[in-house]
Amino acid sequence: VTQAKPRLSLVVPAFNEAAGLPELARRLCALDAVIDRETVLIDDGSSDGTWEAIVEIARADQRTRGLGLARNSGSQRALLAGIAHARGDAIVTLDADLQHPPELIPKMIEAWRGGAEIVEMERENDAVDGALRGMLTPAFYALFNWISPLPLSPRSTDFRLIDRRCVAPLVAQTRAGLVRTLVQRLARPTATLRFAVPPRFAGRSRYDLPLLLRTATHALAAAALPLDGGAPIPIVRTVGEGLP
Ligand code: UDP
Ligand code: MG
Repeated sequence: VTQAKPRLSLVVPAFNEAAGLPELARRLCALDAVIDRETVLIDDGSSDGTWEAIVEIARADQRTRGLGLARNSGSQRALLAGIAHARGDAIVTLDADLQHPPELIPKMIEAWRGGAEIVEMERENDAVDGALRGMLTPAFYALFNWISPLPLSPRSTDFRLIDRRCVAPLVAQTRAGLVRTLVQRLARPTATLRFAVPPRFAGRSRYDLPLLLRTATHALAAAALPLDGGAPIPIVRTVGEGLP
């Protein structure tokens, strides 16, 4: 039996990822055999020519759309901005550094077609870079899980599929800390798959210590309070077409 190709939005936050984006774009285009695709690239206030790289990709590929945020806001807000503007019947969010292999997306689609509205990709290996982060990460999870009624797995990532039906309640919550927590609060049918995290394609982690601490503090505050609502995240630049 042949099924129609699903309409999918591939949403990628990018902070100073100019070096790796062309390779990512190529790997995403390779999925055109199995999906009706748009690629939504969000420039999270980069200073390395990421926006220019996005413009170039969008010029060469009609199915790529670029969105630019006014300033660096962290990947969680960049993801929510991208999800809000995606047009597909499902959205797959993935990192720009190819640590979330696009080749696994057909498996995620299979789980979605099996009835899951959320498909979470959990890491098999502990992909933690650096001694300091290696020490801080378990402390963060211990504290988070002590405060939060919804447990956060140390294996969780931002590689996930989100059904169209889950988008509106998600993007109305721009003050919340982690997309993972927002998704959990929806309590929709969820499938969880495991994957091995490959090394970063270019550069090193964009999470330096200040950004890591800011993100962790925000996540902990949102777990404790929980922070509801919030204004839509403003987009200051757009380029390209994407899905109609
Ligand atoms: N990212 C972002 N804004 C930031 C930091 C990171 O949009 O302020 C993006 C980054 O470009 C990548 C993803 O979020 O696509 C995950 O970042 P990174 O790979 O640096 O994190 P790690 O894998 O070390 O957790
Ligand atoms: Mg990474």
